[in-house]
Amino acid sequence: QHGGPKQAPEGPLMPGVKAIIAVASGKGGVGKSTTTVNLALALRDMGLKVGLLDADIYGPSMPRMLGIKGEPSSSDGSRLDPMEAHGIKCMSMGFLVEEETPVIWRGPMAQTALIQMMRDVNWGDLDVLMIDMPPGTGDVQLTIAQQVPLTGAVIVSTPQDIALLDARKGLNMFRQVDVPVLGIIENMSYFKCPHCGERTDVFSHGGAKDEADLLQVDFLGEIPLDIVIRETSDGGHPIVDQNPASEHAKAYTKIAEIM
Ligand code: ADP
Repeated sequence: QHGGPKQAPEGPLMPGVKAIIAVASGKGGVGKSTTTVNLALALRDMGLKVGLLDADIYGPSMPRMLGIKGEPSSSDGSRLDPMEAHGIKCMSMGFLVEEETPVIWRGPMAQTALIQMMRDVNWGDLDVLMIDMPPGTGDVQLTIAQQVPLTGAVIVSTPQDIALLDARKGLNMFRQVDVPVLGIIENMSYFKCPHCGERTDVFSHGGAKDEADLLQVDFLGEIPLDIVIRETSDGGHPIVDQNPASEHAKAYTKIAEIM
Protein backbone atom coordinates (compact mmCIF):
# COMPACT_ATOMS: atom_id res chain seq x y z
CA GLN A 1 0.00 0.00 0.00
CA HIS A 2 3.02 2.26 0.07
CA GLY A 3 2.64 5.38 -2.03
CA GLY A 4 -0.77 4.39 -3.40
CA PRO A 5 -2.17 5.95 -6.58
CA LYS A 6 -2.31 9.70 -6.15
CA GLN A 7 -4.67 10.29 -9.01
CA ALA A 8 -7.74 8.44 -10.16
CA PRO A 9 -7.38 7.14 -13.73
CA GLU A 10 -10.03 9.51 -15.13
CA GLY A 11 -7.90 12.59 -14.51
CA PRO A 12 -7.56 15.08 -11.69
CA LEU A 13 -10.33 14.97 -9.07
CA MET A 14 -10.58 18.72 -8.63
CA PRO A 15 -8.66 20.45 -11.40
CA GLY A 16 -9.08 24.00 -10.09
CA VAL A 17 -7.89 23.27 -6.56
CA LYS A 18 -4.29 24.28 -5.88
CA ALA A 19 -3.70 22.73 -2.44
CA ILE A 20 -5.54 20.13 -0.40
CA ILE A 21 -4.99 19.82 3.34
CA ALA A 22 -6.52 17.01 5.40
CA VAL A 23 -7.27 17.65 9.08
CA ALA A 24 -7.30 14.37 10.97
CA SER A 25 -7.55 13.01 14.47
CA GLY A 26 -7.07 9.59 15.96
CA LYS A 27 -10.40 9.64 17.76
CA GLY A 28 -13.64 11.60 17.78
CA GLY A 29 -14.56 14.52 19.99
CA VAL A 30 -11.11 16.08 20.21
CA GLY A 31 -12.23 19.19 18.33
CA LYS A 32 -11.03 18.30 14.82
CA SER A 33 -14.04 19.91 13.08
CA THR A 34 -13.88 23.01 15.27
CA THR A 35 -10.20 23.37 14.43
CA THR A 36 -10.78 22.76 10.71
CA VAL A 37 -13.47 25.39 10.36
CA ASN A 38 -11.48 28.00 12.27
CA LEU A 39 -8.34 27.31 10.25
CA ALA A 40 -10.38 27.59 7.04
CA LEU A 41 -11.64 31.00 8.17
CA ALA A 42 -8.13 32.09 9.12
CA LEU A 43 -6.91 31.13 5.62
CA ARG A 44 -9.83 33.09 4.16
CA ASP A 45 -8.69 36.11 6.17
CA MET A 46 -5.25 35.72 4.62
CA GLY A 47 -6.94 36.42 1.28
CA LEU A 48 -7.13 32.84 0.03
CA LYS A 49 -10.07 31.21 -1.76
CA VAL A 50 -11.02 28.38 0.58
CA GLY A 51 -13.23 25.31 0.33
CA LEU A 52 -14.13 22.84 3.04
CA LEU A 53 -15.02 19.23 2.38
CA ASP A 54 -16.71 17.51 5.28
CA ALA A 55 -15.49 13.95 4.79
CA ASP A 56 -17.10 12.75 7.99
CA ILE A 57 -19.79 10.85 6.09
CA TYR A 58 -21.24 9.22 9.22
CA GLY A 59 -21.19 12.27 11.48
CA PRO A 60 -21.06 15.46 9.43
CA SER A 61 -20.74 18.64 11.46
CA MET A 62 -20.00 21.36 8.92
CA PRO A 63 -23.62 22.34 8.19
CA ARG A 64 -23.98 23.23 11.88
CA MET A 65 -20.57 24.80 12.32
CA LEU A 66 -20.95 26.99 9.24
CA GLY A 67 -24.63 27.62 9.95
CA ILE A 68 -25.74 26.30 6.54
CA LYS A 69 -29.24 24.96 5.92
CA GLY A 70 -30.84 23.66 2.74
CA GLU A 71 -29.71 21.51 -0.14
CA PRO A 72 -27.14 22.14 -2.84
CA SER A 73 -28.42 22.72 -6.38
CA SER A 74 -26.78 22.33 -9.75
CA SER A 75 -26.21 25.29 -12.06
CA ASP A 76 -24.86 23.19 -14.94
CA GLY A 77 -27.39 20.36 -14.60
CA SER A 78 -24.76 17.72 -13.90
CA ARG A 79 -22.55 18.63 -10.98
CA LEU A 80 -23.64 20.02 -7.62
CA ASP A 81 -22.63 23.51 -6.58
CA PRO A 82 -21.06 23.64 -3.14
CA MET A 83 -22.97 25.54 -0.45
CA GLU A 84 -21.35 28.72 0.81
CA ALA A 85 -21.12 30.52 4.15
CA HIS A 86 -18.74 33.14 5.55
CA GLY A 87 -16.98 33.12 2.17
CA ILE A 88 -16.17 29.41 2.40
CA LYS A 89 -17.42 26.85 -0.13
CA CYS A 90 -18.56 23.67 1.56
CA MET A 91 -19.82 20.21 0.71
CA SER A 92 -21.04 17.80 3.34
CA MET A 93 -23.08 14.63 3.58
CA GLY A 94 -25.15 16.67 6.02
CA PHE A 95 -26.61 18.62 3.06
CA LEU A 96 -27.76 15.46 1.36
CA VAL A 97 -29.45 13.52 4.18
CA GLU A 98 -31.82 14.55 6.96
CA GLU A 99 -30.05 15.53 10.17
CA GLU A 100 -31.43 12.63 12.18
CA THR A 101 -31.18 10.01 9.45
CA PRO A 102 -28.21 7.73 10.06
CA VAL A 103 -25.95 6.94 7.13
CA ILE A 104 -25.63 3.16 7.32
CA TRP A 105 -23.42 2.49 4.34
CA ARG A 106 -20.59 0.05 4.35
CA GLY A 107 -17.08 1.19 3.48
CA PRO A 108 -17.23 0.95 -0.34
CA MET A 109 -20.38 3.09 -0.58
CA ALA A 110 -18.95 5.70 1.73
CA GLN A 111 -15.77 5.76 -0.34
CA THR A 112 -17.75 6.23 -3.55
CA ALA A 113 -19.80 9.03 -2.01
CA LEU A 114 -16.66 10.76 -0.92
CA ILE A 115 -15.02 10.63 -4.34
CA GLN A 116 -18.27 12.04 -5.78
CA MET A 117 -18.16 14.88 -3.29
CA MET A 118 -14.89 15.84 -4.93
CA ARG A 119 -15.27 14.95 -8.60
CA ASP A 120 -18.97 15.74 -9.03
CA VAL A 121 -18.99 19.08 -7.24
CA ASN A 122 -18.25 22.43 -8.91
CA TRP A 123 -15.45 23.45 -6.59
CA GLY A 124 -14.15 25.92 -9.18
CA ASP A 125 -10.84 27.64 -8.52
CA LEU A 126 -9.65 27.33 -4.94
CA ASP A 127 -6.33 28.16 -3.35
CA VAL A 128 -6.91 25.55 -0.71
CA LEU A 129 -9.43 22.85 0.10
CA MET A 130 -9.54 21.73 3.72
CA ILE A 131 -10.79 18.19 4.30
CA ASP A 132 -12.38 17.51 7.67
CA MET A 133 -11.50 13.82 7.95
CA PRO A 134 -13.57 11.27 9.83
CA PRO A 135 -11.85 10.26 13.10
CA GLY A 136 -9.60 7.21 13.06
CA THR A 137 -7.86 5.22 10.34
CA GLY A 138 -10.61 3.24 8.54
CA ASP A 139 -11.52 2.69 4.89
CA VAL A 140 -12.61 6.24 4.15
CA GLN A 141 -9.48 7.75 5.66
CA LEU A 142 -7.28 5.42 3.66
CA THR A 143 -9.17 6.23 0.45
CA ILE A 144 -8.48 9.90 0.99
CA ALA A 145 -4.86 9.38 1.92
CA GLN A 146 -4.25 7.20 -1.14
CA GLN A 147 -6.47 8.63 -3.86
CA VAL A 148 -6.55 12.34 -3.16
CA PRO A 149 -3.44 14.32 -4.09
CA LEU A 150 -3.00 15.75 -0.59
CA THR A 151 -0.58 18.61 -0.11
CA GLY A 152 -0.33 17.63 3.54
CA ALA A 153 -2.11 16.52 6.68
CA VAL A 154 -2.56 18.20 10.04
CA ILE A 155 -3.26 16.14 13.16
CA VAL A 156 -5.45 17.44 15.99
CA SER A 157 -5.18 15.85 19.43
CA THR A 158 -6.05 16.57 23.00
CA PRO A 159 -3.08 16.32 25.37
CA GLN A 160 -3.80 13.05 27.19
CA ASP A 161 -1.94 9.84 26.39
CA ILE A 162 -4.84 7.87 24.97
CA ALA A 163 -5.72 10.55 22.42
CA LEU A 164 -2.07 10.90 21.50
CA LEU A 165 -1.70 7.19 20.96
CA ASP A 166 -4.55 7.33 18.46
CA ALA A 167 -3.11 10.47 16.89
CA ARG A 168 0.15 8.59 16.31
CA LYS A 169 -1.74 5.92 14.36
CA GLY A 170 -3.28 8.60 12.17
CA LEU A 171 0.08 10.18 11.58
CA ASN A 172 1.63 6.87 10.65
CA MET A 173 -1.15 6.21 8.15
CA PHE A 174 -0.25 9.38 6.25
CA ARG A 175 3.44 8.62 6.44
CA GLN A 176 2.90 5.15 5.02
CA VAL A 177 1.30 6.58 1.90
CA ASP A 178 3.86 9.40 1.62
CA VAL A 179 1.58 12.29 2.55
CA PRO A 180 3.60 15.02 4.31
CA VAL A 181 2.47 15.61 7.90
CA LEU A 182 2.46 19.37 8.38
CA GLY A 183 2.25 19.13 12.16
CA ILE A 184 0.24 18.49 15.30
CA ILE A 185 -2.16 20.87 17.04
CA GLU A 186 -3.03 20.47 20.72
CA ASN A 187 -6.70 21.27 21.31
CA MET A 188 -8.34 21.66 24.72
CA SER A 189 -4.82 22.31 25.88
CA TYR A 190 -5.78 23.99 29.16
CA PHE A 191 -8.70 25.78 30.80
CA LYS A 192 -8.49 29.30 32.21
CA CYS A 193 -11.13 30.03 34.83
CA PRO A 194 -13.18 33.01 33.62
CA HIS A 195 -13.72 34.10 37.25
CA CYS A 196 -10.34 33.85 38.93
CA GLY A 197 -8.05 33.38 35.92
CA GLU A 198 -6.51 30.22 37.37
CA ARG A 199 -5.35 27.76 34.77
CA THR A 200 -6.27 24.06 34.93
CA ASP A 201 -4.75 21.42 32.66
CA VAL A 202 -7.96 19.40 32.33
CA PHE A 203 -6.51 16.76 30.00
CA SER A 204 -2.94 17.38 31.17
CA HIS A 205 -0.85 19.69 28.97
CA GLY A 206 2.03 19.67 26.53
CA GLY A 207 1.54 16.03 25.48
CA ALA A 208 1.10 16.94 21.82
CA LYS A 209 4.29 19.01 21.80
CA ASP A 210 6.24 16.07 23.27
CA GLU A 211 4.62 13.71 20.79
CA ALA A 212 5.51 16.03 17.90
CA ASP A 213 9.14 16.10 19.07
CA LEU A 214 9.16 12.33 19.39
CA LEU A 215 7.68 11.80 15.93
CA GLN A 216 9.79 14.58 14.42
CA VAL A 217 6.96 16.68 13.08
CA ASP A 218 6.22 20.35 13.73
CA PHE A 219 4.16 21.38 16.71
CA LEU A 220 1.78 23.95 15.25
CA GLY A 221 0.25 25.39 18.42
CA GLU A 222 -2.22 24.98 21.22
CA ILE A 223 -5.86 25.98 21.59
CA PRO A 224 -7.39 26.20 25.09
CA LEU A 225 -10.65 24.67 26.22
CA ASP A 226 -13.01 27.61 26.26
CA ILE A 227 -16.78 27.93 26.24
CA VAL A 228 -16.58 30.73 23.65
CA ILE A 229 -14.92 28.36 21.18
CA ARG A 230 -17.68 25.82 21.69
CA GLU A 231 -20.57 28.26 21.57
CA THR A 232 -19.36 30.01 18.45
CA SER A 233 -18.58 26.88 16.43
CA ASP A 234 -21.68 24.99 17.53
CA GLY A 235 -23.72 28.13 16.80
CA GLY A 236 -22.62 28.47 13.19
CA HIS A 237 -20.32 31.49 13.64
CA PRO A 238 -16.88 30.14 14.57
CA ILE A 239 -14.69 32.40 16.68
CA VAL A 240 -12.35 33.42 13.83
CA ASP A 241 -15.39 34.76 11.96
CA GLN A 242 -17.24 36.17 14.94
CA ASN A 243 -14.39 37.82 16.79
CA PRO A 244 -11.20 37.86 14.72
CA ALA A 245 -9.47 40.18 17.18
CA SER A 246 -9.87 37.77 20.10
CA GLU A 247 -6.96 35.89 21.62
CA HIS A 248 -8.35 32.52 20.49
CA ALA A 249 -8.92 33.67 16.92
CA LYS A 250 -5.32 34.87 16.81
CA ALA A 251 -4.15 31.45 17.98
CA TYR A 252 -5.89 29.85 14.99
CA THR A 253 -4.49 32.51 12.65
CA LYS A 254 -0.96 31.85 13.88
CA ILE A 255 -1.38 28.14 13.16
CA ALA A 256 -2.82 28.83 9.69
CA GLU A 257 0.18 31.00 8.89
CA ILE A 258 2.77 28.38 9.78
CA MET A 259 1.11 25.15 8.71
P1 ADP B 1 -14.42 16.25 16.44
O1 ADP B 1 -14.50 16.85 15.08
O2 ADP B 1 -13.00 15.90 16.82
O3 ADP B 1 -15.37 15.14 16.69
P2 ADP B 1 -15.72 18.69 17.34
O4 ADP B 1 -14.93 19.76 16.65
O5 ADP B 1 -17.04 18.32 16.78
O6 ADP B 1 -14.81 17.39 17.50
O7 ADP B 1 -15.81 19.11 18.86
C1 ADP B 1 -16.54 18.35 19.82
C2 ADP B 1 -17.19 19.33 20.78
O8 ADP B 1 -16.20 20.02 21.52
C3 ADP B 1 -18.02 20.38 20.08
O9 ADP B 1 -19.17 20.67 20.84
C4 ADP B 1 -17.09 21.59 20.03
O10 ADP B 1 -17.77 22.83 20.05
C5 ADP B 1 -16.31 21.42 21.32
N1 ADP B 1 -14.96 21.97 21.25
C6 ADP B 1 -14.00 21.72 20.32
N2 ADP B 1 -12.87 22.40 20.60
C7 ADP B 1 -13.12 23.12 21.72
C8 ADP B 1 -12.36 24.03 22.52
N3 ADP B 1 -11.08 24.32 22.22
N4 ADP B 1 -12.96 24.60 23.60
C9 ADP B 1 -14.25 24.28 23.91
N5 ADP B 1 -15.01 23.44 23.22
C10 ADP B 1 -14.46 22.85 22.13
